[in-house]
Amino acid sequence: MTRAYNFNPGPAVLPLSVLERVRDEMVDFRGCGMSILEVSHRGPEYMEVYKKTIDLYREVFGVPKEFHVLFLGGGASTQFFHVPWNLLGPGKKVSFLHTGHWSKLAMKEAKRFGEVVIAASSEAENYTRLPRKDEIKIDPKSTYVHLVSNNTIFGTQWQAFPDCAGLPVVADMSSDIMSRRIDFGKFDLIFAGAQKNLGPAGLTVVFIKDSLLKLCNPEVPTMVSYKTHIDGESAYNTPPVFAVYVNCLVLEWIKAQGGMEAVEKANNKKAGMVYEVMDSLPKFYKGTVVDPGSRSKMNIPIRLPSEDLEKKFLKEAEAKKFIGLKGHRSVGGIRVSIYNAFPLEGVEKLVKFMREFAKANS
Ligand SMILES: *Cc1c(COP(=O)(O)O)cnc(C)c1O
Repeated sequence: MTRAYNFNPGPAVLPLSVLERVRDEMVDFRGCGMSILEVSHRGPEYMEVYKKTIDLYREVFGVPKEFHVLFLGGGASTQFFHVPWNLLGPGKKVSFLHTGHWSKLAMKEAKRFGEVVIAASSEAENYTRLPRKDEIKIDPKSTYVHLVSNNTIFGTQWQAFPDCAGLPVVADMSSDIMSRRIDFGKFDLIFAGAQKNLGPAGLTVVFIKDSLLKLCNPEVPTMVSYKTHIDGESAYNTPPVFAVYVNCLVLEWIKAQGGMEAVEKANNKKAGMVYEVMDSLPKFYKGTVVDPGSRSKMNIPIRLPSEDLEKKFLKEAEAKKFIGLKGHRSVGGIRVSIYNAFPLEGVEKLVKFMREFAKANS
């Protein structure tokens, strides 16, 4: 068996030990005579997985008691309308930190439910950096602030989260959830599609602070209401059982790595190695992010001296089983996505290749 080095931006690499465990438990899940794909979402097998997953979120990620943990469907993109449908309405507004593709799509949906104030934007610079503190003008009359913690396509990531005028903060953490420790005191709702750092596609994890429910509109459709899913323990309708199960195994894997501190350290090391090559060969590997303080540790977009060299790079990379390095069409070039489960050894091989390729083609 040869596993590829999977740099895909999402769905993305999963820990090999998790995949092997899924394989081993597939046909007869823990002695119940059925696979997890076949059991009832109200039966004891899934109930145990559900409870354990929540316990692990609290233990490993430090999700406080005042946050509900929800397992929903529809992807992060569904939260783009769930959030404003619950929190906005006539006369209400939301302040957006507009930092890329995903905040743009979220704003498009929020506009259907209230007024969108762009509190800061880096669109004019094609999102090559995050807004500076002095550029952020949050409207204090906003019901909440929306931000994206890591901009998957443009490769920027808030290293320190901005001050949000004491307003409730909603964060889309789809592409860096659990890549580092966070202060839950700064957030009121966090959502993430699972397919980058948590497990397979089909699951959206939502952490919602109990106090935010007071601001939620009780008249929204049943499936849109956070209260429905809190009261129904994320099983008002059939939840993405298999994805929650794999998510549970990923959390166990994070715990076994040494928890968030160890994962954060590993991510700093991996990203540091790639940035080191870029910084030592700045004429050859040009990061598209202009401000070092905005650099992402999850997604690193890089341009080479020409498009021909970029094509050649990708071709040679593929021959080495480095998969998924092609940059997003709006940025071009290459993008190195190194989520939690991407092995250090793969980054070592990539940076070696990057040095050799630059030498051979300069
Ligand atoms: C991938 C991604 C999304 C979209 O997630 P889906 O689950 O496909 O809807 C949203 N926001 C960010 C930051 C992402 O990286």
